[in-house]
Amino acid sequence: MAEETLDPKNWNGLRKLGHQIIDDMIEHLKNIREQPVWQPIPLEVKSSFKEVVPKEGQTIETIYDEIKENIIPYTLGNTHPYFWGWVVGTGTLFGAFGDLIASALNQPSGGLEHVANYVGQQVIEWVKQMLGYTAQASGLITRGASMASIIGLTVARNTKAGFNVREKGLQSINTKLTYYCSTEAHSCLQKAVELLGIGSKNLRKISVNEDFQINLEELQKMITNDKQKGYKPICVIGNLGTVNTGAIDDLNSLADIAEQFHMWFHIDGAFGALTKLTPESHHLADGLERADSIAIDFHKWLHINYAAGCVLVKSQRDHHDSFALVPEYLSHSTRGVGGAEIWFSDYGIELSGEFKALKIWMSLKEHGLEKFGRLIEQNIQHAKYLTELIKNEENLELLAPTSMNIVCFRFKKEGMDQERLNKLNEEIVLQLQEQGLAVPSHTTLNGNYTIRVAITNHRTKREDLKIFVNAVKRKANELENTII
Ligand SMILES: *Cc1c(COP(=O)(O)O)cnc(C)c1O
Repeated sequence: MAEETLDPKNWNGLRKLGHQIIDDMIEHLKNIREQPVWQPIPLEVKSSFKEVVPKEGQTIETIYDEIKENIIPYTLGNTHPYFWGWVVGTGTLFGAFGDLIASALNQPSGGLEHVANYVGQQVIEWVKQMLGYTAQASGLITRGASMASIIGLTVARNTKAGFNVREKGLQSINTKLTYYCSTEAHSCLQKAVELLGIGSKNLRKISVNEDFQINLEELQKMITNDKQKGYKPICVIGNLGTVNTGAIDDLNSLADIAEQFHMWFHIDGAFGALTKLTPESHHLADGLERADSIAIDFHKWLHINYAAGCVLVKSQRDHHDSFALVPEYLSHSTRGVGGAEIWFSDYGIELSGEFKALKIWMSLKEHGLEKFGRLIEQNIQHAKYLTELIKNEENLELLAPTSMNIVCFRFKKEGMDQERLNKLNEEIVLQLQEQGLAVPSHTTLNGNYTIRVAITNHRTKREDLKIFVNAVKRKANELENTII
């Protein structure tokens, strides 16, 4: 029997399709503004993804036709200039080429002596410089801020617990370790604390003030109380940009409190940390440099193609000691393929990973930091502009202060109670999305259904926001009498 390979018999056919795909992707992004921002996925498309596993191969042309028909039209919409839901980045085509190259080279980052690790190390050095963080820090490129948080909070636990957690675990000891964050902190932090065996009850959620920032007095009281009751407070988590409203905790005061109680200070700066890049707004991130660990995302406000985030840890040794585990088959040598300067597997829980650093490195080189800073500032100014538009509308009401790039508001009318207003605003959001006009998301603030616009989009223009406000007003008028 003839031996087989996965390589094509006809390289030229693959070459031709490859060129076509690149042409199509360029056209797709070039014309994205003319497309609906989002559209519901038809049932028949959904059922096309419920087939049995194929036994025989198909031609690459057939597969690509199916992609054009069933996949490309039904994406999330985050590459569109009218996408402002949740916190999602826009990406770039050059970044996508990074994924193509990285994937074709097929490099498992994690360990061993190959160039991907040096690109990764370069990116981590750049991030430290970008954020004004200590040059001694270590870091790891992760899939996102969720994994970055798991790593930061693990190092916090292992460093501050007061015993060898890696060896003893949390089972046999009456540890009573506690972490602290505000009620506005991202759910990934609770998941991390649960995963670490601390238990969600021991992540104390401190209330927030009217600006949605952590209540410092309550935090101090809680820590003191916990200590008196025999708990061991080990970590304070600060928000540098909450998902709900973009609120920023008083990071310097949190750093003081952490210092006073000998606790670890972790910052969730998933998107907010990037304000360091804008000269007009970098003060928003004051105190960031005092964190013991910090989680950021590249795929949100730096527009790196999904998925890429990063954790930085001030003490390289603490970071290394929390994760390094070197069995015989991964032993580090000084020469040859095993002779790598850095093994990222010593700084996290994954061994093999994709070569995520390449697209980050490429994008930073392509645009330079100043451009990214201007784009971040542009979005902050967009949010200010939208805030002003809302203030000038009699029937629109802001529901939170705009501190960065997130605007929270609703339609409001005399004589409508909270329940009716909630229903009406929900219907406005859903119809805007379903009709492909715009994608804001929603949240609930003080019991009010809130239309939430989070702008991390390099394609949005000022005038788009005006058109959006008009669309909200039009929808509200259309729907006002149908909601009972
Ligand atoms: C998005 C986000 C996260 C989670 O990050 P992922 O990259 O989605 O894992 C955590 N915190 C904040 C503030 C975020 O915006």
